Amino acid sequence: MKTAEVKRRFLAHFEANGHTVVPSAPLPAIDDPNLLFINAGMVQFVPFFLGQRTPPYSRAASVQKCIRTPDIDEVGKTSRHGTFFQMNGNFSFGDYFKAGAIPLAWELSTKPQSEGGFGLDPEKIWATVYLDDDEAIEIWKQTGLPAERIVRRGKKDNFWSMGIPGPAGPCSELYYDRGPEYGREGGPEVDEDRYLEFWNLVFMQHEITDVKSKEDFTIVGDLPKQNIDTGMGLERIASILQGVDNLYEIDEVRPILARAAEMTGKKYGVHSGHAASESHPDDVRLRVIADHVRTALMLIGDGVTPSNEGRGYVLRRIMRRAIRSIRLLGWQAPALPELLPVARDCMAPSYPELAEEFGRISEYAYAEEDSFLSTLRAGTTILDTAITDVKKAGGKALPGAQAFQLHDTYGFPIDLTLEIAAEQGLDVDQDGFRRLMADQRARAKADAAARKTGHADLSAYRGALDAGGPVEFTGYQEISRESR
Ligand code: ATP
Ligand code: MG
Ligand code: MG
Ligand code: MG
Repeated sequence: MKTAEVKRRFLAHFEANGHTVVPSAPLPAIDDPNLLFINAGMVQFVPFFLGQRTPPYSRAASVQKCIRTPDIDEVGKTSRHGTFFQMNGNFSFGDYFKAGAIPLAWELSTKPQSEGGFGLDPEKIWATVYLDDDEAIEIWKQTGLPAERIVRRGKKDNFWSMGIPGPAGPCSELYYDRGPEYGREGGPEVDEDRYLEFWNLVFMQHEITDVKSKEDFTIVGDLPKQNIDTGMGLERIASILQGVDNLYEIDEVRPILARAAEMTGKKYGVHSGHAASESHPDDVRLRVIADHVRTALMLIGDGVTPSNEGRGYVLRRIMRRAIRSIRLLGWQAPALPELLPVARDCMAPSYPELAEEFGRISEYAYAEEDSFLSTLRAGTTILDTAITDVKKAGGKALPGAQAFQLHDTYGFPIDLTLEIAAEQGLDVDQDGFRRLMADQRARAKADAAARKTGHADLSAYRGALDAGGPVEFTGYQEISRESR
């Protein structure tokens, strides 16, 4: 089943059950100073959960574009983490609660494909619930899941929040057992790669603050109403339904990976088992390339442009990581002119604006790659010499001053210095580097006040939400004008 069809079926199921289909908000989280990018479907509905605004509907469904940069190190190494992904979600604003959400999820998951469902084998589904949530366990049992496949888990996995102050709540997650070739038996607690988490049902009922980690936060109190917020990874369910090993092999991603393999002459998958842990390093790199190129496309598509701070810096790092990965596989020429059009062709069926805007998107992308390749040429020579010197002297770490000079004089990013040094078995004196950076920032602060920065006014998006109409993003023209 094609990813686009998975998405269509998800929305159709919830529309048939009284949900209003709401478009994805753009990736930049323009309303929240604590969040760079939308990381879940519920973000655009936060004011509804908090009771700050009255929703124009009591049930909604969406397929939200998401970015999770904290997952970047997992990309390619696990079967299930993208920096960009799409989250299918159904939401209840004080309407149905647990007893509504669980059967709705079960029905879509297990209904035969011939009847519009996903046709998952009920015997392979597991659910987790928050420690003391006996109510959810009871509903799962009534819905058709036997007790031995219902697992209690703690805060880290089964108490969901955005990672910042706001609405939160205990949750119940659905896992699919992909079988012994993917890992060890025993449920999600034992092996999260074999037991693939594909859907999280959040019982949104608290407001939290003082968020230090997933397990360390303070509950302020209860939300005005009991709500439902669910997130089903579109790529994850697609990977299950397409019978592929990981989300980089689904129809929306695989062609990018295949093109990168073709360019570099690598044969993808021949040295790897089904489990992500058995992957050949070249395969991991190909997956990173595919993921990051797609992410760059989606970010630039939503108006983000490469820069040295904030969202633009995230984009820059992701692009540079993709470019470096393909160089490490032996491709020296500009790679994005080969890969970005493939990513566009994968995604444009669901996001036609990517095809319409491709001129603008590719201009930014190709210019960024060109400038990075020049930086690389200059910086790598200098770094290589420095590394050789440190090694000759029997040192274990590259001095912070050296890393700073590379950054300051040549625009050579620190993450790259760290990566290249690590490849050569060296540490980098990061404390020293940070001290020099802090000094420089203090100096720059004086000028900064004089310079006019500030974001474009993107309040059009919130206005649309107020009106209850479809969310239309008009911000990027303003952003790109600003940064030209
Ligand atoms: P995991 O434990 O696998 O990292 P999660 O518990 O962090 O996932 P949630 O915050 O519960 O994920 O998000 C809801 C759903 O979104 C998940 O059940 C999964 O299907 C999907 N999802 C989460 N992170 C990613 C990602 N980085 N790439 C693709 N899909 C994701
Ligand atoms: Mg996660
Ligand atoms: Mg999880
Ligand atoms: Mg989860």
